[in-house]
Amino acid sequence: PAEEPALHVEELDVTYGRALSALRSVSLTVPHGGVVALLGANGAGKSTLLRAVSGTLRLHRGAITGGRIRYGDTALDGRDPVAAVRAGVVQVPEGRRVFAGLTVDENLRSGGLGLGRRSPALVRAGRERVFAFFPRLAERTHQAAGLLSGGEQQMLAIGRALMAAPRLLLLDEPSLGLAPLMVHRIAEVVREINAQGTAVLLVEQNAGMALSLADHAHVLEVGEVRLSGPAGELARTDAVRRLYLGEE
Ligand code: ATP
Repeated sequence: PAEEPALHVEELDVTYGRALSALRSVSLTVPHGGVVALLGANGAGKSTLLRAVSGTLRLHRGAITGGRIRYGDTALDGRDPVAAVRAGVVQVPEGRRVFAGLTVDENLRSGGLGLGRRSPALVRAGRERVFAFFPRLAERTHQAAGLLSGGEQQMLAIGRALMAAPRLLLLDEPSLGLAPLMVHRIAEVVREINAQGTAVLLVEQNAGMALSLADHAHVLEVGEVRLSGPAGELARTDAVRRLYLGEE
């Protein structure tokens, strides 16, 4: 098989509006099949980086003002979300945004829009894969997504992204606001998705969860990469232990 691509973000600069600089010269790589975590406080620029990669930055009035993003040979900077999805790069947005008024099934079917007409068999296979991960969704296919619990909505948001059969999944704070048991379940699923061959770029404030999943991690501070390294090593550094793992 052809070699699977890696994500390369090179010296990326992003601003919102005229003046607000959100990222400065940020570089990172997500190798094929890898899990990379992005840690940092509120406002550090984690979501901004994911938006830049997934082509959704413009929807938030942001712009790339320097640097490059490519996935294999495909340039992703300045492209739209459809281009990213076609390249195999799919984002699960922050805040488990699902279409509240649509059913679970309709939400799933909306995953992968922009990929063109897909055969019913392909859609069916996608749904079966999602239901294998999240049996609870299978029991609620006709329920309005807005009536699901928070954890179920996060499952649906991930499931919808999986419908596009991503090669690289961008996950924005999947643990936010969830009970510990649900966080644990989401972590397991991320591990399984990765084991099936999908690379993951994971944004988290839950550093414990993120570092347990990731091979490699980066700490963002006010728009710049402050620390990078193998996840196990970062988990042992004083700064990360104090600031992000809540240790003394
Ligand atoms: P959080 O976990 O709070 O989402 P984050 O690390 O993901 O934090 P970003 O959301 O990427 O951080 O925000 C980075 C900076 O850009 C912050 O200063 C934020 O206020 C600013 N920002 C984010 N979105 C916008 C926007 N649509 N317009 C203007 N400024 C924005």
